[in-house]
Amino acid sequence: MPDYQRIKKELEGIAVEDNPALVRQKSRDFYWYSPILKAQLDNVTADLVVTPKTEEEVIRTLKVAYAHDVPVTPRGAGTGNYGQAMPLSGGIVLNLAAMNRIKEIHPGRVICEPGIVIAELDRQTKAHSGQELRFHPSTAQMATIGGFIAGGSGGVGSITWGGLRDLGNILRLRVVTMEAEPRTLDLTGWDLTKVSHAYGTNGIITEIEMPLAPAYDWIDVLVGYDDFMDAVRFSDALAKCNGILVKEIAPIAAPIPQDYFTRHKPYIRQGQSIVALMIAPHSMDPFVAFTMQQKGEITFRSDKVESMKGIPHAYELAWNHTTLRALKVDPSITYLQVQYPGPDHVAKVQKMVEIFGDEVPGHLEFIRFDGQIQCSGLPLVRYTSEARLEEIIRIHQDHGCPIFNPHRYTLEEGGMKQTDAVQLAFKKETDPKGLLNPGKMIAWDDPNFDFKSGKNYLFPGLAALM
Ligand code: FAD
Repeated sequence: MPDYQRIKKELEGIAVEDNPALVRQKSRDFYWYSPILKAQLDNVTADLVVTPKTEEEVIRTLKVAYAHDVPVTPRGAGTGNYGQAMPLSGGIVLNLAAMNRIKEIHPGRVICEPGIVIAELDRQTKAHSGQELRFHPSTAQMATIGGFIAGGSGGVGSITWGGLRDLGNILRLRVVTMEAEPRTLDLTGWDLTKVSHAYGTNGIITEIEMPLAPAYDWIDVLVGYDDFMDAVRFSDALAKCNGILVKEIAPIAAPIPQDYFTRHKPYIRQGQSIVALMIAPHSMDPFVAFTMQQKGEITFRSDKVESMKGIPHAYELAWNHTTLRALKVDPSITYLQVQYPGPDHVAKVQKMVEIFGDEVPGHLEFIRFDGQIQCSGLPLVRYTSEARLEEIIRIHQDHGCPIFNPHRYTLEEGGMKQTDAVQLAFKKETDPKGLLNPGKMIAWDDPNFDFKSGKNYLFPGLAALM
């Protein structure tokens, strides 16, 4: 057992918390989204929370932790929902929330620290020069930019820009290594893939350079259809309209909107499926014309309501917020993350709707994927048992719809991040003792891990890229 009193002494001058209740609080994320992870991870807790304010304090902390063989699990805001930020082996939770400064803003890019909350980052870049991040998770009001890069994948804006997996959507990351004498590495190009969506297993991100896009006063819109598949076809057609600038297109099946979107209820008829949208102000006229032609019913426009007080952003009905809103009303609900590879993505969605009906109420996100419009899905699942959940996953896969399993806490089983020899070699270089977020990379723990599983990964292995 490490001598935490001594460690605290050696960290003097850096904010350290050892109150068990507070440490436990900062050892949680949204793992409870999954009934399976909830059962597996409920007792996980760290021994100390360390909150550095500078890169130098990060380096000091890692040096002390390395000397004492203490695991370190980085944390942004703890909104990850696969247990990514949970310290499976105890030790230190490295809370990066106090490293929250923007350092520089330039035309098309921003340089910042990892702990800044994404909505605040957007607020500052917009005020500075009318720019914003290309895309953000629906947790923008809470989540940090570092946590998004290390634990997320894409979100609001991915309809135009794709995701974190795409070259150019992160420009540079500086990481601190976990060694006797921690080093800083500046990563660019393909090397960024070693750290993005790696759950902080191979370095602590201390500086980030991200590309920016022009900022708009996006208008929230809901479009209603009596049939979910009509909402899906409308979304697909809108996503392919070259001239209409949108930031978010999410078709959501009845009865989700009526049952779970409490603040928007007055704008949604019983049995109506909706599409949650964000439209650039100058695109509203063509958007309305297009929607009329597609026989969609515009039931809500944020620029037409008297007040938006108490009404959440449209993007807070979408992505994993759809699941969150459902869970608030019905805690027995869970969800899946599905890919519907194009060009027949709409037909694939239709097949799943026919097979599962209301057991798996539909929720899709239209995105640009490798240059093409397609959709991914975060359908709800009316959970009955682990066995049935596994069966639902298998049926999706049998129909050509890969699942990124949100009920697993390891990188490989989650299915988004492919580890391979290059990724593993980087971890050996940056974290030789395996102290960074231990237990999250199977390839590290199991030397016989088979890299060639043939699975489809969102963030492909490095060997294939370089
Ligand atoms: P945390 O949860 O604190 O950390 C995430 C991971 O990053 C952890 O493994 C942690 O160890 C690691 N980490 C954190 N900071 C650092 C650092 N500085 N260096 C190295 N590693 C670090 N995800 C999406 O991609 N798109 C969405 O639209 C989306 N919507 C969501 C909606 C809801 C309601 C919820 C609960 C989750 C959603 N997520 C989404 C998942 C999650 O919110 C995002 O991944 C989010 O950006 C995580 O940020 P965070 O600051 O909370 O990170």
